[in-house]
Amino acid sequence: MKHNKIRIAILGSTGSIGKQALEIIQKHDRLFEVVLLSAHSNWRLLDEQAKTFNPKYAVLTGLVSENYNIKIGNPAKTKMYVDPHALNELVNLPEIDIVLNSLVGFAGFSPTYYALKAHKKVALANKESLVVGGAIITELLSQSKGSLIPIDSEHSAMLQSLIGEEKEDIEEIIITASGGPFRSLSLEEMQDVSVEQALQHPNWNMGSKITIDSATMMNKGLEIIEAHWLFDIPIEKITPIVHPESIIHSMVTYCDGSTKAQLGPPDMKVPILYALSYPRRLPLNSSRMDWSQKYRLHFEPVDNSRFPCIELAIDSVRMHKGGPAILNAANEIAVTQFLEGKIKYIDIPKIIERCLNKIHFSSALNYDALVELDQQTRDYARTICQHGTN
Ligand code: NDP
Ligand code: MG
Repeated sequence: MKHNKIRIAILGSTGSIGKQALEIIQKHDRLFEVVLLSAHSNWRLLDEQAKTFNPKYAVLTGLVSENYNIKIGNPAKTKMYVDPHALNELVNLPEIDIVLNSLVGFAGFSPTYYALKAHKKVALANKESLVVGGAIITELLSQSKGSLIPIDSEHSAMLQSLIGEEKEDIEEIIITASGGPFRSLSLEEMQDVSVEQALQHPNWNMGSKITIDSATMMNKGLEIIEAHWLFDIPIEKITPIVHPESIIHSMVTYCDGSTKAQLGPPDMKVPILYALSYPRRLPLNSSRMDWSQKYRLHFEPVDNSRFPCIELAIDSVRMHKGGPAILNAANEIAVTQFLEGKIKYIDIPKIIERCLNKIHFSSALNYDALVELDQQTRDYARTICQHGTN
């Protein structure tokens, strides 16, 4: 049976990206339809969303057992699952056209993997999927009828700047970074920054994990790895630059010296909608640049001595196939511990570096090996946090 609407599963619908995706779908409800929503523990918001969108499926991946009797949405319309692994199977459903993965962290890898195995189009916000398992995902993509379209604003800008071009003609990809809330702080001033300060991102309102990643600039490190796998570009050809206004979302320079860029006021709805409508565009009432105004756009190099996480990320790719998965797991634990007030901001790169130096990996990188490596790194990172970083 032919369906008129594009049927979308939103994994992580209660998060920053998930909520914005739902707003877009509501505005384009003649084109799109929600068939699945998921949350980890925020069942109240999931319930509200399910009552509004009446998806066929609602999934809670992280609920504790005493709350098993809660109801999500209208039971006559929505089938509910409380199961940490349900998404891996549900992404297979024939009634799903697009899987929008807006989960946070390593948890996003499995659903991306299974969705591509099921030949789905995946609109990917969960950059960690490509960071930890880029080789596995690209191998899978080469055999899949599915596709992977980035939601991350920099990668959406790269995709738009690469259209109509040949890979051999690319000289360099310039990935822009806002620099986060600590862009102008000295190393000394960074020693005692608080969680509240780190959560104050100057340009974007995002989930807490990516906001801390932006403060340490690990976000840019993860995004360099993401771009490397997404566009099959050597890491050496991807250059991060700080651009505090976040107007240019990234650029590509070609062999004749031309540079193509994608610009716009910072608004994640633009790349989310582009990933859903790609390769076409759909109208969006987002704010526009007013080019009759005087704008000043600024650029500065990344200071690796104040922001060591980018180099750690690049080094992790060069170490061995498991390097980025170790980097990611150590970072997730360090960020969680920082958010819980258990370690300092400046401890985050130290924990990651110690994990990268300690944990070795020489076997073939496959799904099971990746899950084991992730767990092993988390255990070791937690031990470091307990015993102090010095
Ligand atoms: P949020 O923390 O706001 O949302 C995360 C979502 O995933 C929530 O729905 C949450 O459920 C769910 N979730 C959390 N932990 C788990 C888990 N272990 N298993 C399953 N589901 C889980 O994150 P963001 O929306 O900010 O980010 C999502 C992804 O998109 C990240 O990979 C991020 O790097 C990327 N991204 C985000 C941008 C942004 O502007 N926010 C920009 C570019 C990329 P619950 O609400 O119940 O906790
Ligand atoms: Mg980004």
